[in-house]
Amino acid sequence: MTAPALPGHPHLAYQGAELCLEGQPLAALAQEYGTPLYVYSKAAMLQALAAYQCGFAGRQVQICYAMKANSSLAVLQLFARAGCGFDIVSGGELARVLAAGGDPAKVIFSGVGKTRAEMRQALQAGIGCFNVESEAELEVLNQVALELGLRAPVSIRVNPNVDAKTHPYISTGLKGNKFGIAHERTLATYQRAASLPGLRVVGIDCHIGSQITELAPYRDAIERVLDLVQAIEAAGITIEHLDFGGGLGITYHDEQPPAADALWTALLAQLDARGYGGRKIMIEPGRSLVGNAGVCLTEVLYLKPGEQKNFCIVDAAMNDLPRPAMYEAYHAIVPLQPRPEGVRCLYDVVGPVCESGDWLGRERHLAVQPGDKLAVLSTGAYCASMASNYNTRGRAAELLVDGAQTTLIRPRESAAQTFAHERLLP
Ligand SMILES: *Cc1c(COP(=O)(O)O)cnc(C)c1O
Repeated sequence: MTAPALPGHPHLAYQGAELCLEGQPLAALAQEYGTPLYVYSKAAMLQALAAYQCGFAGRQVQICYAMKANSSLAVLQLFARAGCGFDIVSGGELARVLAAGGDPAKVIFSGVGKTRAEMRQALQAGIGCFNVESEAELEVLNQVALELGLRAPVSIRVNPNVDAKTHPYISTGLKGNKFGIAHERTLATYQRAASLPGLRVVGIDCHIGSQITELAPYRDAIERVLDLVQAIEAAGITIEHLDFGGGLGITYHDEQPPAADALWTALLAQLDARGYGGRKIMIEPGRSLVGNAGVCLTEVLYLKPGEQKNFCIVDAAMNDLPRPAMYEAYHAIVPLQPRPEGVRCLYDVVGPVCESGDWLGRERHLAVQPGDKLAVLSTGAYCASMASNYNTRGRAAELLVDGAQTTLIRPRESAAQTFAHERLLP
């Protein structure tokens, strides 16, 4: 018997007494590969991408996967083969894109603190566009390009000053934010860029935040960006592409974000209404392409009842799943093999790391025993890519399932590997 897929997770469902991803029983994978273990569904990633592609049918669009969401080489390879470009935020990410076979011409480089070395690396690789975030960066990029005898393609990231109505740490489009150039400075900055011989203006971009679950902030941002495009072009500077960033949310709990195709059907109608629907459009989705394609499997180590709280101590921790500690984020936690007869108790699900911030879920009703395996859901984005070795914990293994096929895309890291590059004193 197959139950309906879990909310937001198209390929995750209980089949009989087993939680399965693309039909594969996850308990068997946990048994074979050990825990903690990230498991990603290829079909879920391609389905998320297809939703965007469907919304953009018949348009000139480049989807640049914001790879900081999940930068594992095999995941990058999957998106590169599907025709995606990449939004990068460091020279390290550029090296990963190239190692995964990505096309440098489809790479855009965002971020407020690009170094000269990173600019050189990206210019020499021939990336498609630098998304410049300050007037000072513009001057440095011009110098670096001239030193190499090249012209850097640039887009200026504008801060449209709209409230994405999301967590303050993942909101990026408000005035008090470190990202982008203020609306009022945009025209002057474009005029400066157009006058510099080492630069070639190609676009404009914005990215207002992450985990956005409403249409309105996008609408507001687009209106403001189009006002700017009008003013910039009236000043004689041509804008070839319009880049509206990423940020579309996913269902972690009970959020109901718009579907990517519905969102873009609405936004393209808005662009059409203002006469910009025929322009080249770029977007930079991250979380919405991979977040609900992944789960993290973990084993219950101990149950620790207490006077005020019961703890369910598992073998995954904040170093594997940093979002709860960083943003107090919610991730659903479900058993791989439910115990229908078991007594459900209220637990805080916590990891072994020596920090009170090391929790994965608070006040969860679970019927579990030591040795049971759990899945932490919605862990395809900003989990493995944010993982650390804190407490000298090796990084978890990562698997990609594709129907009946399973590929180990990152073996579990040993303790020795975590300190292999360190040196003892002479
Ligand atoms: C992080 C980031 C994205 C992706 O955001 P998501 O919320 O994961 O879609 C896109 N563009 C820029 C500039 C970013 O920093």
